[in-house]
Amino acid sequence: MINTSELKRASEWLRNADGIVIAAGAGMSVDSGLPDFRGTHGLWTSLLPAGMTERDVGSLTQGDCFLDRPVEAWQFYGRAFQVCRQLTPHRGYAMLARWARRVANGAFVFTSNVDGHFQAAGYDEARVLECHGTMNFMQCGKPCGAAIWPSDSTMANVDPDALTLSTLPRCPHCGHVARPNFLLFDDHHWVEKRTAAQWERMGTWLRAVKRPVVIELGAGTAVPSVRMFAESVRGPLIRINPEEYDVAGEGVGLQGTALDVLDALDALLATN
Ligand SMILES: [Zn+2]
Repeated sequence: MINTSELKRASEWLRNADGIVIAAGAGMSVDSGLPDFRGTHGLWTSLLPAGMTERDVGSLTQGDCFLDRPVEAWQFYGRAFQVCRQLTPHRGYAMLARWARRVANGAFVFTSNVDGHFQAAGYDEARVLECHGTMNFMQCGKPCGAAIWPSDSTMANVDPDALTLSTLPRCPHCGHVARPNFLLFDDHHWVEKRTAAQWERMGTWLRAVKRPVVIELGAGTAVPSVRMFAESVRGPLIRINPEEYDVAGEGVGLQGTALDVLDALDALLATN
């Protein structure tokens, strides 16, 4: 159940802020129908190459997987890419964008999701920070340099189920196996350049905002990047989470899925 008085406080912060920080974790994407890649929905198995079991998923989340097992890694992430591309961002993205248009400095997105759904929903690329990178760009698996390139041209020709070592996407600069430009666990090969530039832009934006409010959506505690960031921003925190919704400092915790609570907040903001 969403606490009504806390919901009201949250809507007042959103009205009175001059900038909205949207901090989105996996729960935001799950509401669009995306598998939770931590496996809690058991959907990993549907993406696994033939002959592999759910137990093998762990090794495909490690930074060395594109070096050690490039064919399996590509079969797995190639399917994940196709699943993400088939989904449409849910209506919550448009709601948040509408709220942001009412405040002087608009919104800045901080997300651990690599699906590019904020950009797909029409958000300005210059106002998004993807702390774990994105599947919409590729990089060299080695890497031989800091180059990244859009995934579209690569993925258009990839049939994950038919991939072999000789047909894997390659780095155009050195010919080594390519990989998506997102961060895996223990990943020493991730090219961080794009995310570093996004951090710069967010810092500049935040310095101009006098009364920020943070709205945190579906961010877990297992990989706490989004939570830690949300708590680091000055200003009240609106935490939306079905389970772990407690807030220690100034803020409110609203229990529910991202989309359910956004709907409730939107109804309240519309009454003005
Ligand atoms: Zn290379």
